[in-house]
Amino acid sequence: RIVMGIESSCDETGVGLVRLHDDGSVELLADAVASSVDQHARFGGVVPEVASRAHLEAMVPTVHRAFADASLKLSDVDAIAVTAGPGLAGALLVGVSAAKAYSAALDVPLYGVNHLAGHIAVDTLQHGPLPTPCLALLVSGGHTQLLRVDDIASSITELGSTVDDAAGEAYDKVARLIDLPYPGGPPIDKAAADGDPAAIAFPRGMTGPRDAKFDFSFSGLKTAVARWVEAAERRGEPIPVADVAASFQEAVADVLTAKAVRAAKESGIGTLVISGGVAANSRLSALAAQRCADAGIELRVPRPRLCTDNGAMIAALGAHVVAADRPASSLDISANPALPVGTVSV
Ligand code: ATP
Ligand code: MG
Ligand code: FE
Repeated sequence: RIVMGIESSCDETGVGLVRLHDDGSVELLADAVASSVDQHARFGGVVPEVASRAHLEAMVPTVHRAFADASLKLSDVDAIAVTAGPGLAGALLVGVSAAKAYSAALDVPLYGVNHLAGHIAVDTLQHGPLPTPCLALLVSGGHTQLLRVDDIASSITELGSTVDDAAGEAYDKVARLIDLPYPGGPPIDKAAADGDPAAIAFPRGMTGPRDAKFDFSFSGLKTAVARWVEAAERRGEPIPVADVAASFQEAVADVLTAKAVRAAKESGIGTLVISGGVAANSRLSALAAQRCADAGIELRVPRPRLCTDNGAMIAALGAHVVAADRPASSLDISANPALPVGTVSV
């Protein structure tokens, strides 16, 4: 069966096509993405109105591009999955409306699914079925969560999450402090390659003995970077961008991997999936690989293109929901900007 996935929760218009095989495996056929990120860069963050408008313009062309890439016709589709939340309300509505229209016109079932679960499900396109239970560290622009996945189609529970900034948000804010462009993840990753991760001892938030075990905090780290940069400027010294980037990146990777590995050890779960835009970070995946190997944990990290927002992740999750015989959504569904991670499909 062919499943189309539509994603529009933030600034990427994504349309993915996958084939659900009889054995439950899911194969990637197309992954078309149009991003409005350049239109937001000068504001240093996503502007909701601009994003919604860009989705409206990009939606139909991106659908057509996905079908052309897969050499399929619209009539080949057997089910449609769409991001129902969480995300920006206006942006989500564009995708949900488009999905409803295609569902009605093609007379195929509609599945409203969770964007965050999609970030995890996408890994099955690269590494095959998820062993369950498994742990997922979801690190993106808007979220930082440690999750337990008992069934990707129906059962995800939160073990911990950030109490303030998301990891990707910290990257974006720190990039601004050291004059690197938005979004901050890729340029910090690049700058850090030439820096010393031990140059500056930035704080590791929420790692004290009395802190909640699996929660995270990145706003203190961001403030520490801001103070450090201000102090250097006051002394009239040039900012060692590479060292600041490397030291900041080390602090983020250290905290994220330490907590994820601790969660795996304490729960006796042998597989860790890291996904979301920040999973594209080179230091995070390298440190996770090292610490997971030491602890005997299997690590799965999708390739960078699958980690950031795309339609294939929604098609993949939709396929798992179809395979699990979960009920289809009503055509009355609406977007839910605050859809909780435990609600995999609506
Ligand atoms: P959410 O999924 O929470 O709704 P989002 O969809 O905006 O948020 P993603 O597209 O998954 O988030 O990820 C975008 C974030 O990933 C940005 O904050 C960006 O800076 C960060 N990012 C991308 N590449 C890298 C990298 N190589 N290193 C670190 N961060 C990165
Ligand atoms: Mg984005
Ligand atoms: Fe995302």
